[in-house]
Amino acid sequence: MATLDSKLSSVLGDKTAKALNATFGYQLVGDLLHHYPRRYLVRGELSDIAALQEGDEVTILAEVFSASTRRFAARKGNMLEVVVTDGTSKLSLTFFNQAWRERDLKVGRQGLFAGKVGVFNGKRQLAHPDYELIPDGDDVDAAVQSFAGKYLPMYPASGKLPSWKIAQCIELCIGALDEVVDPIPSQIIEKHGYPTLHQALVQIHQPADLDIAELSRLRLTFDEAFLLQLLLMSRKAKMRSLDAIARPRRSGGILDAFDAQLPFELTAGQKSVTAEVEEDLSKSHPMHRLLQGEVGSGKTVIALRAMLAVVDSGGQAALLAPTEVLAAQHLHSITKMMGTLAHRGMIDSPENATRVTLLTGSQSAAERKEALVLAASGEAGIVIGTHALLSASVEFADLGLIVVDEQHRFGVEQRDALKGKAKIPPHLLVMTATPIPRTVAMTVFGDLDLSTLRELPLGRAPITTHVVNTLEKPAFLERAWERIREEVAQGHQAYVVASRISAGESEDSDIDFLNGTSTPDIVSVEALAPELATGALKGVRVAPLHGRLPSELKDATMSAFAAHEVDVLVSTTVIEVGVDVPNASVMVIMDADRFGVSQLHQLRGRIGRGSAPGLCLLITQAIAESPARLRLEAVASSTDGFELSRIDLEQRREGDVLGARQSGAHSHLRLLRVLRDEDLIDLARADALDLLGIDPTLKNYPQLGIELAKVEDDEKSEFIDKG
Ligand code: ADP
Ligand code: MG
Repeated sequence: MATLDSKLSSVLGDKTAKALNATFGYQLVGDLLHHYPRRYLVRGELSDIAALQEGDEVTILAEVFSASTRRFAARKGNMLEVVVTDGTSKLSLTFFNQAWRERDLKVGRQGLFAGKVGVFNGKRQLAHPDYELIPDGDDVDAAVQSFAGKYLPMYPASGKLPSWKIAQCIELCIGALDEVVDPIPSQIIEKHGYPTLHQALVQIHQPADLDIAELSRLRLTFDEAFLLQLLLMSRKAKMRSLDAIARPRRSGGILDAFDAQLPFELTAGQKSVTAEVEEDLSKSHPMHRLLQGEVGSGKTVIALRAMLAVVDSGGQAALLAPTEVLAAQHLHSITKMMGTLAHRGMIDSPENATRVTLLTGSQSAAERKEALVLAASGEAGIVIGTHALLSASVEFADLGLIVVDEQHRFGVEQRDALKGKAKIPPHLLVMTATPIPRTVAMTVFGDLDLSTLRELPLGRAPITTHVVNTLEKPAFLERAWERIREEVAQGHQAYVVASRISAGESEDSDIDFLNGTSTPDIVSVEALAPELATGALKGVRVAPLHGRLPSELKDATMSAFAAHEVDVLVSTTVIEVGVDVPNASVMVIMDADRFGVSQLHQLRGRIGRGSAPGLCLLITQAIAESPARLRLEAVASSTDGFELSRIDLEQRREGDVLGARQSGAHSHLRLLRVLRDEDLIDLARADALDLLGIDPTLKNYPQLGIELAKVEDDEKSEFIDKG
């Protein structure tokens, strides 16, 4: 007999175990039993091809009519198109980069095909269907009859390990399985009416009917959510128990002096977030807070006030920025806001002044040396930098606070590298302009405290966004350049954004194809900038900007744009975050369908930062009603970052959200989906909270403790980058 911890080889033999390990990384019976079916083939519910409707989940009995693979001309990859027929109508099946399936799907073979009906180019199709071919020579009717009343599980499979083979292995494992010990407290399972773990594991693979399959899936999804919540809560408790230096607000210091000279009043939202941050800093355990706020909502001043509070307590603060452009810009705006308060050691320096210094990879040796001395001596109260801040040579006298700008660009290890420079755990403030939907906050960021800025400072101009389709209306592109000329004539500036640096870059995406866009010639910065300068924008001062330019040139270009010595910046997404030039009023985004929803929203946030209303034009060739086009329409019709980030999330593979582990061999996050399972996550969170309230160390639930330790182990380094 076997348990979930038995080696697969003990049940299946070495050869099969090896294959499962090579293909999926599975070693234990439990690994394989957590390999769940994607769907079930149901005899008796076979559909006629003629009757298929878009969006239907269907199973059809059909014969292969033709099969052909074609390579994409412009990009890597290939597509296998298989046409099947049920004798009356035809249906096409498409597989991207799975040409090997052509070996199985020979003309004349019969089988059952299952998937969701989609429409492409007006034709119905199944993209990446599951299928079970009827062995050559078998009687089709008999083969189909043979699973009458059964639900055939269809598994994520590979060429070497087809679905039926996996089903066989799972059957053997289930046959050998001892009663599984259920780690989840029985009162919780009973309360929700869930099956036991043993029942759920058997029924998800070999369901008596679809209701039981669904209930089993629900139970197993709940387990994932519950363990995740327990993990996050215990992690938070651990953080709470660490010692940090309390940095309570001190009156009469640099923060008071700063507040006294601030040219604007904080918005109500800024005030309440500031109060939360001050409260955290006054505690003797580390702050661990995420500040989310729309582009332009004024996060920097909140971070700066926190940094100054730490300076008042005799400590230092580090601000980590994702790019050199952004680091330089933070230096510029922070020293400007601080005025003489950043002039320590200079003749005009007031009593409480400190120094602000910059550390980036492209500095000269002399600049770098000076910055290193300022940081190590404690002379600089604020050190702003890029990844260069993480290098071993950087030392601080007393690092009390780390601020991370734009969290998703920094991994946990990087944040930890910086934390390691403090003798005592520092406080941490992570800022993001990508609003985080509630369920993501509860899962991915569940161990951080969350502050939200919802309002923008007064006086912000509205932004209007239009989708411009240059296939349908080619002349409208000319109109876009005209709008830029008009704005420039009125003394304003503009951004033109392209998705590529240079024309020749290789692309390896099937996304365009799936999206219904055809993008044969994607606009690049290097091609577009000179073209505009000598053509449509002749006489206007145009400059290119992208990540491959030498950093002095990047800085010089950004400064020239900020100083209005350049009218139009033709740029890649390097301007996506943080760039603040209030005089810019127009943005034209080329090939806008190549960007994600949240990314477009971020980009658009670069305009409308001054008093002039902003205009954003999304240029695309995506055809009406295509997913890409609908995405753009969504961006055009809403400026609510929360709504847009939800749309973004719905469109992305959720593996991106819950981390790479979701696809890993031992992942405990196979079923959970942050948007779909919002209610379940709520339930699990409440249950986890209750349980920890009664039994904080889980001493009465040893099996649960063991499972939690496994999950913890599993996640140690790889769980989700949260800055
Ligand atoms: P983000 O949240 O995108 O980082 P910033 O902190 O860069 O936003 O703020 C955007 C602009 O708004 C800056 O120029 C900043 O000085 C200004 N600002 C911030 N808070 C206020 C306020 N309360 N009133 C007026 N302007 C403000
Ligand atoms: Mg910012």
